Amino acid sequence: MKRTTGMDRATTRNWRPATRAVRGGTWRSEQGETSEALFLTSGYSYDDAQTPAARFAGEADGMTYSRLQNPTVAMLEERIALMEGAEACRTQASGMAAMTAALLCQLSNGDHVVAARAAFGSCRWLVDSLLPRFGIETTTIDSTDNDAWEQAVRPNTKVFFFETPANPTLDIVDLRTVCAIARAHGIISVVDNAFCTPVMQRPLELGADVVAYSATKLMEGQGRVLAGAICGSEQFINEVLLPFQRNTGPNLSPFSAWIVMKGLETLELRARRQSENALKVAAFIEARVPQVLHPGLASHPQHALAMSQMEMPGCIFSFVLEGGREQAHALLNGLDLIDISNNIGDARSLMCHPASTTHHSVGAETRREMGVSEGMIRFNVGLEDPEDLMEDLDRALQGAGL
Ligand SMILES: *Cc1c(COP(=O)(O)O)cnc(C)c1O
Repeated sequence: MKRTTGMDRATTRNWRPATRAVRGGTWRSEQGETSEALFLTSGYSYDDAQTPAARFAGEADGMTYSRLQNPTVAMLEERIALMEGAEACRTQASGMAAMTAALLCQLSNGDHVVAARAAFGSCRWLVDSLLPRFGIETTTIDSTDNDAWEQAVRPNTKVFFFETPANPTLDIVDLRTVCAIARAHGIISVVDNAFCTPVMQRPLELGADVVAYSATKLMEGQGRVLAGAICGSEQFINEVLLPFQRNTGPNLSPFSAWIVMKGLETLELRARRQSENALKVAAFIEARVPQVLHPGLASHPQHALAMSQMEMPGCIFSFVLEGGREQAHALLNGLDLIDISNNIGDARSLMCHPASTTHHSVGAETRREMGVSEGMIRFNVGLEDPEDLMEDLDRALQGAGL
């Protein structure tokens, strides 16, 4: 293997974002392949017994076992780190593997976590059900209220955990202020940046300590594989995350890493076009339904804040119907082109009813508290022509009596 300029930080630091997305992390074999090689291997062989001894002792670089390193996975990690502006990145098998690792690698019995109450269903499960089983106290708050973060801090608070925009309520957390509160108390802020990716929002630049991803979503971008990633300082990744990750093994497969790497090459183009399409479609829907929650629309209660920290409003938004679950399901059943699907970030337009799918497991009371109502529909706008999407929506809205 030859390190190309894609792996040389002194050079890549000066590259602009588009170049990083296509070239960052590239590492070529003796064959000189242009597209990154896919190393589907769990182990590595050595010319002599001294080589693995030196590698295991940390005295020489080189691969030893794919739970510890894999060349294809390393290329993806270097590319994500460059795009994020992070010192280091490690990838995991799914977004939830990343969230679990980002929390458990640094928390111990007796610690306290403050988390946003509006969150992806499984992220809420980690906070409400998993962490307390290990003696980690958790408090969930209205994450849009900066004072609530400050007031929830206790002497044993170790981590702030939140997503912005939140899935599916599109609540926005004031990254600059909340991360500054964390810093002032020596608390680590862990930001789930799945809705945005580094092309739309870079929380590390706004004061966050750790950024965690479901790379399944917009990063991968075509609905093929599950993936996760954690970005942070070299100290956090090497000293806090790696001992946990290397011994518990939530690793991303080289195949999935390769797919995500291909996705990153077109991430900025997809994000920009899908954001434009989503804004057009959201404006169309806004004229027909009681409430649209889209950070790019002036009607979003935190529109100005969202646009001060996001470079694009994103391709995912929600809207609320007065007729509850029955009307929401009727609308979904009236769609021809747009798929009923609970994935997001796909190049295809997908719509789902969170209360009966992604947020079913959190229970009715938590849904009410989070603002996930029975009439809420979440919409991932894809790369199709928005005129076709609006024609499909027009039919479905009429069919649901709107
Ligand atoms: C999808 C999602 C996750 C979970 O990611 P998976 O790749 O499905 O495990 C976590 N957080 C947010 C905000 C998500 O949208």
